[in-house]
Order: sequence, then structure tokens, then C-alpha cells
Amino acid sequence: MPVEVLIPEAALHDRVRELGGEVARDYAGKPLTIVAILTGSLMVLADLVRAVDVPHRIGLLHASSYRGASTTSSTLIINENLAPDVVDRDVLLLDDILDTGQTLAALVDHIAARGAKSVKTAVLLRKVGRQTVPIEPDYCGFTIPDAFVVGYGLDYDDDYRHLPYVGVLQD
Ligand code: 5GP
Ligand code: MG
Ligand code: MG
Repeated sequence: MPVEVLIPEAALHDRVRELGGEVARDYAGKPLTIVAILTGSLMVLADLVRAVDVPHRIGLLHASSYRGASTTSSTLIINENLAPDVVDRDVLLLDDILDTGQTLAALVDHIAARGAKSVKTAVLLRKVGRQTVPIEPDYCGFTIPDAFVVGYGLDYDDDYRHLPYVGVLQD
């Protein structure tokens, strides 16, 4: 399927570097662990951490939501084998996109329950008009319209993650 570019590579690069600078300022001298939610956030993770020029750790969390026929209910499956040790760490949870907010809200609670000192959130993208759970990300790259996006880590049926830009699938 063709993909129409929504956010070009250079814009992603510039904005993620900017966010990295903000994170570095906010977390200087703190025991920061950036916990990325796989698989979608792998590219933003790689670009973000190289712009956070204060000492920090990287953790990975594999979570996927399986939605049934109803788009409003979903079950979040967390792979505990990968889960990082976050005890007494200031955690910045990083996801590719905030849609309904269910994933991020559930994972904030999950990380807090695992003994983190603090938990904040960062998302590359935030879709307008879709949120059902009241959660405000502490860092947000771009606000986008309500369309299904792929690329820069985001998939459609596990394809398109490798694209260097964020785009909209055309049918
Ligand atoms: P939420 O729990 O906020 O509804 O959904 C967040 C998750 O749904 C994201 O981590 C992502 O995996 C997936 N998702 C939501 N919207 C999109 C989209 O437009 N494109 C892709 N590829 N994934 C999406
Ligand atoms: Mg995801
Ligand atoms: Mg996906």
C-alpha cells in the first residue's frame, strides 16, 4: 500500500533532539531510566537517548494490546521477562503514540507498582480526538490528526516500521 508522508525524517530528527534536550535539563543529577515500550518506540528511543546528554539507563518493556471486535476494550499483555529493574529509579516511559491512552495509563501504574521513585511519560505522537483515558504526557513530539500512521517504528501488521518518516497508509 502507498504511504503519504506526514512527518518527514528531518522534522522527526529535529523535534526528537529538542525533546532530548528538555529531558536532559529536567533529569540532570537524577537516577533516570528511560523505559521504551516495544516494538513501536525503538526508533524514537535510539534517537532520543543520543540527545539526552546526561547519564541515564535504558530499559525495555514489551507490551501489546489485543483488541477484540469492540475497539474500546483491549487487554494489555506485558512480557515480564524483559521488564527492567526500576526500583528507586526516576522512570521516563516512552511510547510511539498516544491513541486512547489505555496503554500508557496501564504501564504507568505497572512501573509505579514495581518500585519506581517517579514515573513520567513521553510520546512521539498524540492523536487528537481519540483519548478515552485522562492521561497527559509530560513530553510530546507531535500532535497528529486521527489517521492510522506507520513508519519510524510504527507498524501495520508488523510491516512499515523501517520507514525513516511517519506516514499515512493510503488504501
Ligand atoms: P492506546 O492504548 O493509546 O489506544 O494505543 C497505543 C498503542 O496503539 C500504540 O502504542 C500503538 O502500538 C498502537 N496505535 C495506536 N494508533 C496507532 C496508529 O495510528 N498507527 C500504529 N501503527 N499504531 C497505533
Ligand atoms: Mg505500542
Ligand atoms: Mg502495532
